[in-house]
Amino acid sequence: MKRSRSFLRKGKEFSFVPPFSNSEKSLHKSGEAKQSETRSSTQVTKSRCTLLASACCGSEPPTGRRGGAKPRTPLPFQSPANTPELNSSSGLSSATDMSLLGKTAVVTGAAAGIGKAIVEILLQNGAKAAILDLNKTAGESLTEALNKQYGAEKTLFLECDVQSEEQLKAAFEKAAGTLGGVDILCNNAGIMDEAAWEKSVTINLMAVIRGSYLALEHMNKLNGGRGGVVINMSSLAGLGPFMTCPVYTATKHGVVGFTRAMAAASAASGYGLRFNTICPGFVQTEMICDVSSRLGRFSHLTEVTKQLEEKLGVIKVSEVAECLLELVTDETRNGEALLVFQNGKKYVTFPSFSQ
Ligand code: NAD
Repeated sequence: MKRSRSFLRKGKEFSFVPPFSNSEKSLHKSGEAKQSETRSSTQVTKSRCTLLASACCGSEPPTGRRGGAKPRTPLPFQSPANTPELNSSSGLSSATDMSLLGKTAVVTGAAAGIGKAIVEILLQNGAKAAILDLNKTAGESLTEALNKQYGAEKTLFLECDVQSEEQLKAAFEKAAGTLGGVDILCNNAGIMDEAAWEKSVTINLMAVIRGSYLALEHMNKLNGGRGGVVINMSSLAGLGPFMTCPVYTATKHGVVGFTRAMAAASAASGYGLRFNTICPGFVQTEMICDVSSRLGRFSHLTEVTKQLEEKLGVIKVSEVAECLLELVTDETRNGEALLVFQNGKKYVTFPSFSQ
């Protein structure tokens, strides 16, 4: 039975019911999804509920990260040498792994932040990548730098506002035509702007759905596609409520639910496409700067976000990119939500309603 956690903070009492139990079994019927679920269940420890409760509401983390260093999972990849300007943003190390040689990727919101680190790790592992972003200046200069570093025509910039169905479709088609098909899609573009809440829903959720359906059109093995993997960017706010940004929370919960349902539908239908989501805590990008201007009617709660950020810590974009690489290269992963913050990374288990 789930227990409500409650605690006092600055004179106010917050309570939280952990959203996940530890004994859930698979919702999925297919072999692939079942295999994935089994791995999740065995890998995720009993501390998860505590971990998530603390992440969202501030109770003590289980593994004692506060005030000290903690062991990190070893990385399954390395990056090329002599790339100071790019490596400085991603914090990656220095050799090349070609596990994605011949693969092509589309990444939205990739001119900066997490998306940029994702493109870098894909290139470092031998893939080609299309950068979709509305920031033309940043996108073009990043593409120029990456093509110098990794070789001409490894990267393609396509100006695209993911709010526009027409632009997203055109960019995806252009990427597929130029790169020779698409194997990997990362729907990463996202904003936090509680004042512009409809725009937030359009970018954070609707564009993720549109992008996933475009991937289905192009990559579905039943339609002659070659299959592949879709990674949708959620957040810790997709697993538990962030009181300072209810709409952001709603969109990121939506991304988790949509991705898991698509994973099950794809496995049951034989599309040959895997769908996974990443749920990062605070990541060092523009998005966590000037937080109060992003909270709209909840800007008076800015301090709560700052306290949570202090408690959970801030990770590097490269740590999120590593999660993407893991989900892309491990072909047993389908329907996963991979949580990553300073305490480490965990595959999340969810309640099952299949029995
Ligand atoms: P960021 O603001 O640093 O970068 C976002 C990129 O997306 C920018 O290049 C921007 O130009 C682009 N973009 C914004 N709107 C777009 C649109 N309509 N069409 C195309 N491109 C657009 O953000 P980030 O921190 O790198 O966030 C990337 C993703 O990670 C988002 O989905 C975000 O919600 C998620 N996330 C971020 C954090 C964090 O703490 N930074 C934590 C969890 C999840």
